[in-house]
Amino acid sequence: MSDTVETAICSRAGCRAVATWRIEWRNPRIHSADRRKVWVACDEHRDYLHDFLATRDFPVQVAPLQTTIETS
Ligand SMILES: [Zn+2]
Repeated sequence: MSDTVETAICSRAGCRAVATWRIEWRNPRIHSADRRKVWVACDEHRDYLHDFLATRDFPVQVAPLQTTIETS
């Protein structure tokens, strides 16, 4: 039994880079206050995705993606 390490891929359409950031957001019009959507982003698209949401006045938070890679 082993945990499969899922490699997160950037949420930007067409981007296949490994994601290193998580972007939590919600749309206040359709999501209740405790709902969170999570996108993940590579270094290159972190700002793009953040700005995409921020310009829509969505609450958005960016945090480093926790990697669970075990070195053995
Ligand atoms: Zn990307």
